Amino acid sequence: IAAYGKARYDDEGVARRIVGMTADITDRKTFERRKDDFLSIASHELKTPLTSLKAVLQFLNLIKDQPFTKRHVQLIEQANRSMDKMGRLMDDLLHVNRISEGQLQLQKTWFNSARMLEGCCSSVGLNADEECAVTGDLDLELYADEQRLGQVVINFITNAVKYAPGSPISISIENLGDQVKITVADNGPGIPEEAKSQIFDRYFRASHSSNEYTGLGLGLYISAEIVKRHNGRIGVHSEPGKGSSFWFTLPLEDRSKR
Ligand code: ADP
Repeated sequence: IAAYGKARYDDEGVARRIVGMTADITDRKTFERRKDDFLSIASHELKTPLTSLKAVLQFLNLIKDQPFTKRHVQLIEQANRSMDKMGRLMDDLLHVNRISEGQLQLQKTWFNSARMLEGCCSSVGLNADEECAVTGDLDLELYADEQRLGQVVINFITNAVKYAPGSPISISIENLGDQVKITVADNGPGIPEEAKSQIFDRYFRASHSSNEYTGLGLGLYISAEIVKRHNGRIGVHSEPGKGSSFWFTLPLEDRSKR
């Protein structure tokens, strides 16, 4: 609680009245603390791939005159992964700015939902048949911003890979008549009850994950904003120890009316 007060004095300069107000600033304090944590984590997260990239380039420079070997290829691949990681971090940071300035623009087109979801699996290096099965209404066509929705799905999948290592991931498409529901499920540790209402907040990271795994606490916040802009809903169903199912819904458009 913060208190602000001002004394009112009479003609003799004696304080007669105190006018004041109190305000609960717990939320603001929590937000500020998360933001401070965020800045130090963000710099650390960017520094790690940068350091790795520098080391790789130095090493490549040392062996640049030697015949091209498997080692060269491995180093180049490692450099690529570091660049991709930094690219994703920068994308998140840019998106957060755009969202808070109300500038997230959607570019809607018609596309096949199953193909989009399978594309998400392969873009994070998962085999759509074995590690990331897509089931349900595979023919469903959606009218939405394919790239942004892909970003939501990729966030769900990369979180499942990160927080539920080794667990199979399954993706389902449900046609609910006037809406579609897309769910990404894992068999990992689940979300603690007290964290569920906050995981879609900016900078929030549940305590079960913050020490063990790195992250900026932005992925689900950005995902929620993208889904809201599509007039959909987003949520999670999870029981601790029994995995998590992250889902979102979108209103279905009638293609014949377009
Ligand atoms: P980040 O992964 O960068 O921390 P996110 O916004 O993507 O940020 O996720 C917020 C938090 O939600 C994570 O810190 C983690 O505690 C929790 N979380 C997200 N996905 C999962 C999952 N599949 N299993 C368990 N916890 C999860």
